[in-house]
Amino acid sequence: MTISVLRIGQRIVRDDRVTTHAALVARAFGASRIYMSDINPDIVRTVRDVCKTWGGSFEVEPTDSWRDILCDAKERGQTIVHLTMYGSRIGDVADEIAANDSVLIVIGAQKVPRDVYDIADYNVAVGSQPHSEIAALAVALDRIQHGRQFDSEFPDAARKIVPTEHGKQVL
Ligand code: SAM
Repeated sequence: MTISVLRIGQRIVRDDRVTTHAALVARAFGASRIYMSDINPDIVRTVRDVCKTWGGSFEVEPTDSWRDILCDAKERGQTIVHLTMYGSRIGDVADEIAANDSVLIVIGAQKVPRDVYDIADYNVAVGSQPHSEIAALAVALDRIQHGRQFDSEFPDAARKIVPTEHGKQVL
């Protein structure tokens, strides 16, 4: 399964750290790319540097029009999964979503326009309480991939961690 992430909007009060973390979580939890609107170019550079150091082919794609990304996804038959606290319980739909070849997960930085709820194939809640797009994204990626995203390595890494019980080992 190929998973892309679309993050809609960035708060007026700069939330560069949250934006960076959304991208890093998408990468570390098995997505192939993240599309981001209103993104500070420094964040794109930071995430690309992480990819060079730690491997893999994750892409950050700035976009001026998240609507175009959604419409393209729809046309290409990608399954659109919008994460919202108002949606269906993730436990009820994760297996069904996991059966798709190509998935676009949509997260919001702030209030998401109504039509996103309509265009989505699934509106999915990670608990029916307000929290964070980063937490929602991490849990959704884990549930959809049944935890298998952590079994594979990131190719062509300049640095690689050897999991150890105590201390730090990096090759
Ligand atoms: N009040 C906003 C709304 O109407 O959606 C909440 C914005 S929240 C700070 C930012 C994003 O986090 C949401 O757009 C959604 O993608 C995600 N999110 C927050 N809580 C969630 C939950 N319980 N389940 C799924 N996604 C959630």
